[in-house]
Amino acid sequence: MKRQWFTAAGALGLSAALIAGCSTETEDEVEAGNDNANDSENEASSDEESDQPKNVIMMIGDGMGMGQIEVTRLLEHGKEGILSMEEMPHSALMRTYSANNWVTDSAAAGTGIATSEKTDNGVLGMSPDGEELDSVLKLFQEHDRSVGVVSNNTVTDATPAAFTANVEDRGGQDEIARQMYEEEYDVMLGGGEDYWLPDEQDGDNLIEELEEKGYDTPTDRDELLDIDDPDQLLGLFHPSFMTYKNDYDLRDSNEPSLEEMTEVALESLSQDDNGFFAMIEGARIDHAAHAADIPGVWQETIEFDRTVADVREWASDRDDTLVVVLADHETMGVTASETMDKEALRNVEGSPEYYVEEKFDFDEDEGKFTTESVQSVMQEYAGVEMSDEDVADLNEYIYDEDGELKFPHEQGWEVGSFIADYHGAGIMSREVREGSSTGGHSADMVPVFAEGLGAENFDGTYDNTDIVQLIAELSGLGFEPGEIIEE
Ligand SMILES: [Zn+2]
Repeated sequence: MKRQWFTAAGALGLSAALIAGCSTETEDEVEAGNDNANDSENEASSDEESDQPKNVIMMIGDGMGMGQIEVTRLLEHGKEGILSMEEMPHSALMRTYSANNWVTDSAAAGTGIATSEKTDNGVLGMSPDGEELDSVLKLFQEHDRSVGVVSNNTVTDATPAAFTANVEDRGGQDEIARQMYEEEYDVMLGGGEDYWLPDEQDGDNLIEELEEKGYDTPTDRDELLDIDDPDQLLGLFHPSFMTYKNDYDLRDSNEPSLEEMTEVALESLSQDDNGFFAMIEGARIDHAAHAADIPGVWQETIEFDRTVADVREWASDRDDTLVVVLADHETMGVTASETMDKEALRNVEGSPEYYVEEKFDFDEDEGKFTTESVQSVMQEYAGVEMSDEDVADLNEYIYDEDGELKFPHEQGWEVGSFIADYHGAGIMSREVREGSSTGGHSADMVPVFAEGLGAENFDGTYDNTDIVQLIAELSGLGFEPGEIIEE
């Protein structure tokens, strides 16, 4: 595939320092390192000291706003505790709006972060006009560096897909899998096995095909951790989303944690002497927040933070790596409210979705959960007393406005809202969520934390389209806004 790289003029209000490095050379000139290309002449080599990061690790907490971080800090460590991400020496703030809405979804947010171009909600790696946009991950791949994505979502869902694919509709995860397969990214770890299998791929099994090309293709935790010396990896550990941390034991899961996937990913990617780009996503912070599931937000965010700690530790032994931790947007207006009953929230067991799928008895004739099963499960697992009237309300909320039963995860959202209210958690109401096209995202600014080579440049308030401009600039790779693939 031949790609022509050119400038979308004047699209960004970046700092002078950033713009100074931008130029309009073609990719070939960049690779040839011509004299005008001051952004490429110092491309990192293993032999000489460089002030340009060779490796960039971007970690995205999906839906992880300030409230999610603060609630996690309080529940995990108490008032005076501190999370690993908070110990990173540099920080900034970032706006998240999309091209067609002041509240973004994960597709438009991921595209803004990955390609430095705004697009409409639901669109991945394409402009609102349908032009394909290259991501920073593809930029690194073009420069012969290894690239990978790790997520506990499906590896084809919005955030990883914004870095790896170009589709008009984020729902087309079969097409996203196909594009990821064709581009042969070095590391792809997460959930969503179904999208790679013959039923979704016109009879092709993309997992087997990559295995024939030499990929390791682990399917569970044991197989992943058994790999010595990993090379290219396609690890899919669940047919759909990977299991919530709070359900891991209840569902008898044998999936790897985000930390374990990340460790193996770094082991693989760091074998490339040219360097690498990795995007690591803690995806289910967002899913738990949609469900008003504060204990879930805590457990998912703490797993993400433990992964941040591991990555920081890994990078601290080297002088060639930049680590950037950020969120794509905030979900459900989570705040660390004074009324929050921290002890009760810590004691909640399992996710609301688990109760819906596995514990509540659904009376098919009545089309309702039985009052007794809801009351006893909510008492036993969540410490919540529900009156007969509360259960009657819940049984209305599980139907949409057309009278159709909602999906189990959406029924879980309604259950979660009862638990959050009961324990005094600060979170958007179920009515506001119901009226929201994003299922309860907010436009709140989100934090950006940075550490490592070049991290001191992350300072101030940014738009989400500025971040990879800064990363590319620091890496000496001359990424113009909105690189467009010419087929
Ligand atoms: Zn979301």
